[in-house]
Amino acid sequence: VHGAETLGFQAEVKQLLHLMIHSLYSNKEIFLRELVSNASDACDKLRFEAIDKPELLQGDADLRIRVEYDKDQRTVTISDNGIGMSREDAIANLGTIARSGTREFFSQLTGDQQKDAQLIGQFGVGFYSSFIVAQKVSVLSRRAGLPETEAILWESDGQGEFSITTVEKADRGTAVTLYLREGEDEFLSGWKLREILRRYSDHISLPIQMLKEEWDSEKSEQVKKNEWETVNQANALWTRAKADITDEQYKEFYKHVAHDYDDPLAWTHNRVEGRSEYTQLLYIPKHAPMDLWDRDARRGVKLYVRRVFIMDDAEQLLPTYLRFVRGVIDSADLPLNVSRELLQESRDVKVIREGSTKRILSLLEDLAENQADKYAEFWTQFGQVIKEGVGEDHANKERIAKLLRFASTQAEGSAQTVSLADYVGRMKEGQDKIYYVSADSFAAASNSPHLEIFRKKGLEVLLLSDRVDEWMLSHLREFEGKQLVSIAKGGLDLDTLADEEEKKHQSEVAETFKPLVERLKTALGEKVKDVRVTVRLVDSPACVVVDEHELSPHLMRMLQAAGQ
Ligand code: ADP
Ligand code: MG
Repeated sequence: VHGAETLGFQAEVKQLLHLMIHSLYSNKEIFLRELVSNASDACDKLRFEAIDKPELLQGDADLRIRVEYDKDQRTVTISDNGIGMSREDAIANLGTIARSGTREFFSQLTGDQQKDAQLIGQFGVGFYSSFIVAQKVSVLSRRAGLPETEAILWESDGQGEFSITTVEKADRGTAVTLYLREGEDEFLSGWKLREILRRYSDHISLPIQMLKEEWDSEKSEQVKKNEWETVNQANALWTRAKADITDEQYKEFYKHVAHDYDDPLAWTHNRVEGRSEYTQLLYIPKHAPMDLWDRDARRGVKLYVRRVFIMDDAEQLLPTYLRFVRGVIDSADLPLNVSRELLQESRDVKVIREGSTKRILSLLEDLAENQADKYAEFWTQFGQVIKEGVGEDHANKERIAKLLRFASTQAEGSAQTVSLADYVGRMKEGQDKIYYVSADSFAAASNSPHLEIFRKKGLEVLLLSDRVDEWMLSHLREFEGKQLVSIAKGGLDLDTLADEEEKKHQSEVAETFKPLVERLKTALGEKVKDVRVTVRLVDSPACVVVDEHELSPHLMRMLQAAGQ
């Protein structure tokens, strides 16, 4: 043995491990799902690298995952003949949380076990879930392409340190061995492990093998035979007929591709044939990931070509405003050696992207129409991102506009629940515009003095306070032929809505206050463009407006804050 080294976990890992063991204990068998998921990813990566470098397969091209247990040692081992890990890989991947948002994650912890478990779930549990049931974990691994003598043994008790030693390993790939804690003997059973594998990992496209067992009546126990059998269906879930896939299987597959602990909100699964041939299985998560706003750190849709994994996070397959979508797209047309650069120019990719965008929009429309609660949940998590679509995806602007939801003077509180169609349906006789006011916060918007006259006349006003709203509205001038108009801008033409008496009253008022207006103009001089008598206000004596074609005060403040 040489090259032994003891290292400390990243400080956060220690904290996370501790939290996870306590919060996820009630669902402890998920460790198996996570380890099988990693083994499957490792095989995918190898298969992909082997397209260019077939020598990596070293004559062993039957990729598979194996699960074993040893009653005497009290261990469970999950092994694969996938890509494996070098010393550097192991240190980087098993000793750190290589994800962004870690700090934010810790700042959100509440100490409430249930809430925290959910948060940990959102964050992803992965490899560390082993420690829920194991007091010690060892990882024996040899990276494909490295010699026998450059394998590594990584060991840790999950208490804050891990050791890494250079060892020999005859074959490529990784074996993760869990030394079970006291009281976790239920996992030392072929029946139990098979049951968990079928429940959580049936969707895995590689064979998951276990040793055959049979009843020995003399010993009166199950004994293992020296023969492997496959315990899952071992074909890619998305290639199966919809009718043959249960909701549970769809959900477990989601957890695998999305590295999420929670169920998805909704999904859409289709095979497209014709000019372009591909299968898509796309999911909408329940929660926004920690790094939703970090445009670089996303894990989007996985690309497969004829069932061969090609890449994670193929951002060309969906527009940026749908970056929260997870799943797989399997193309029958792309070449196996397709690169990110090639994807950018590919006509096939363009077709897939348009098709997938339409599918997701249909799925959202369907939720909005038939499952309002779910859609509200969706909107709370991802509404702000969808708003980006109004400017980004001109071809689908109309459809996206229908999906938008707003806070409004006709709705309760700050929740964004009102669609533009709802608004139009409630428009007053003679009203031909959609009115909105935007501000830094919901409170500021809903207390705007500009609202007074609208309240008095019973006209609905949308209350906008998200950062993207102004930008979005610069791309959305109208909806179903109705102009969207800021009530904070000049020249509000409410006349068509006034009755004869009001009009008469207005011109009298204007006449009466002419001298005052003149005096104000002189007093304010250069500071203002104009002073007008207005019918907008009910309780406030005066308000500032900008010209119709100028930046709104809110946008102006935002630009100033940004140093422009
Ligand atoms: P995730 O799978 O979401 O990346 P995990 O915590 O499950 O997170 O795994 C961390 C990393 O460890 C993986 O991304 C991978 O790089 C590495 N890893 C884990 N298991 C294996 C394995 N069986 N073979 C090769 N690499 C692995
Ligand atoms: Mg994983």
